[in-house]
Amino acid sequence: MAAIKSTIPTRRFDAVIIGAGGSGMRASLQLAEAGLNVAVLSKVFPTRSHTVAAQGGIGASLGNMSEDNWYWHMFDTVKGGDYLGDQDAIEFMCREAPKVVYELEHFGMPFDRNADGTIYQRPFGGHTANFGEKPVQRACAAADRTGHALLHTLYQRNVRARTQFFVEWMAIDLIRDQDGDILGVVALEMETGEVMILQAKTTLFATGGAGRIFAASTNAFINTGDGMGMAARAGLPLQDMEFWQFHPTGVAGAGVLITEGVRGEGGILINSQGERFMERYAPTLKDLAPRDFVSRSMDQEIKEGRGCGPNKDHVLLDLRHIGAETIMKRLPSILEIGHKFANVDATKEPIPVVPTIHYQMGGIPTNIHGQVVAPKNGSSEIVNGMYAIGECACVSVHGANRLGTNSLLDLVVFGRAAGNHIVATHLKNREHKPLPADAADVAMSRLSKLETSNGSERVQDVANAIRKTMQYHCGVFRTDELLQEGVKEIMVLDERRKHVSFKDKSKVFNTARVEALELDNLIETAKATIISAAARKESRGAHAHRDYEKRDDDNWMKHTLWYSEGNRLDYKPVNTKPLTVETFKPKARTF
Ligand SMILES: Cc1cc2nc3c(=O)[nH]c(=O)nc-3n(C[C@H](O)[C@H](O)[C@H](O)COP(=O)(O)OP(=O)(O)OC[C@H]3O[C@@H](n4cnc5c(N)ncnc54)[C@H](O)[C@@H]3O)c2cc1C
Repeated sequence: MAAIKSTIPTRRFDAVIIGAGGSGMRASLQLAEAGLNVAVLSKVFPTRSHTVAAQGGIGASLGNMSEDNWYWHMFDTVKGGDYLGDQDAIEFMCREAPKVVYELEHFGMPFDRNADGTIYQRPFGGHTANFGEKPVQRACAAADRTGHALLHTLYQRNVRARTQFFVEWMAIDLIRDQDGDILGVVALEMETGEVMILQAKTTLFATGGAGRIFAASTNAFINTGDGMGMAARAGLPLQDMEFWQFHPTGVAGAGVLITEGVRGEGGILINSQGERFMERYAPTLKDLAPRDFVSRSMDQEIKEGRGCGPNKDHVLLDLRHIGAETIMKRLPSILEIGHKFANVDATKEPIPVVPTIHYQMGGIPTNIHGQVVAPKNGSSEIVNGMYAIGECACVSVHGANRLGTNSLLDLVVFGRAAGNHIVATHLKNREHKPLPADAADVAMSRLSKLETSNGSERVQDVANAIRKTMQYHCGVFRTDELLQEGVKEIMVLDERRKHVSFKDKSKVFNTARVEALELDNLIETAKATIISAAARKESRGAHAHRDYEKRDDDNWMKHTLWYSEGNRLDYKPVNTKPLTVETFKPKARTF
């Protein structure tokens, strides 16, 4: 198919960034301000990326409310992640946190304020003072719209720095040459269907998560795992994909998120008997234990018959005692979500909630500069020209379970670090590598197959079946039987999606084409998740296994790597050595 290439327009950039969420725009800002020629692609207008929906806050040990320091933050993150996180990356993130938050403040981000003018901070799950002694106020918040404030601030700074945005452009596939180097992407303009090669010395993925592989999710519809799909098709591994976080408080039946900040401000979970059941499961942190812990406790209450409502299938989040004034000041969006999605006035009635898929801890493996690393001949090697940051990446700061507020922090810490690294590398590397003749083959053959296929499958049927399977077989609690059945079902769906076609080929809407391309990414992410989960015979963080209830550090303190080709699994050690301090040794997790 070498001939196709000559007909595809090509544009050259120093760097191409896929994704205009918090991580992509933090990195692009660094590049544009350093004078690099940078393009940012996004499926939606930048400020509609999922980061805009983040509610509760960004974690940093500013110590504005009471004593705090980065070392306590590091301890909480290591323990919260059930000792699977890489301690060098965690140290780096927690140390950088105050700096990047003050930087955001100087960019003009409208944080809430204390009476003395400092940034307001609220408590959040798993964040403690003095190594687990008591909750600490570490979440820097802009009401319950922190992501909105963050994303708009970053967008405005990027406009000022003259970043070039390609809005409603979808990256389809990576361009990788015979040396294994990444040379850019093939992309589709969603409105016109035009295809273009974006050639770049550096390609950075900031494509966000894949929450849409599950049926009940707090994630935006665009979170279809495109970055993971593209990486997998280019032969790169995906790391720790079995670890998916269920947020304890999605509105029952709707999936919409109620921030943990509600419990930070004093909200409590109650069962059908009106009991504050978290006191039994986590005597010290109670409702503010880490998310995996709270979600499992809720599931247990429901399974033991103490759920609420006619079907006893949810519990209640009670914030009546916080008072209408505080709710209106600190949690205005929650009041609105209660009205719109649960039909309750949260100042007077509790909100029905249930654990809902929220965040992927795994992703494309990277080092602390955001460079993608893949094992080669027994050691880890950097993939030239390729970076990944944000939710699509796994630098492994979140281990097996992310703490609330640590994702927004991850975006800006590693967005900034990757930006700095790319600028430094760029100064040494002025030439573009030539594109191979088959640069666009993978992408073009996927596109042309859609136009010519006579298969009988509909995109939405297969996508919905993936979501249903993942929800049932890969939920809060897992068993060998559930997982093995789930793997079989997903492999059948992998076959079915190869026979997707459009009924009336004369009338294919571009949105349908986009959904069909996304389906290929959903299935790669779903396979990575369920195959990695079926192999891990222990319970750790968000991976709760009924047949192996204990964490098994002797055999399973290691990162999973999944490869699409042959659904092969490989493992690599956890980096338990921090940069400057002593290792936090694994202990039993109680809260
Ligand atoms: C409802 C909700 C509330 C949350 N609240 C918090 C919180 O309070 N604190 C916290 O720390 N974390 C929170 N999180 C998690 C956090 O917000 C996310 O992990 C984070 O925002 C992800 O940012 P990102 O930059 O990785 O990607 P996103 O913000 O998801 O952006 C992804 C970008 O990639 C683009 N993209 C994707 N695929 C393609 C493609 N093929 N071609 C072109 N562009 C593409 C999209 O258009 C988008 O611009 C929350 C998450 C949710 C869902």
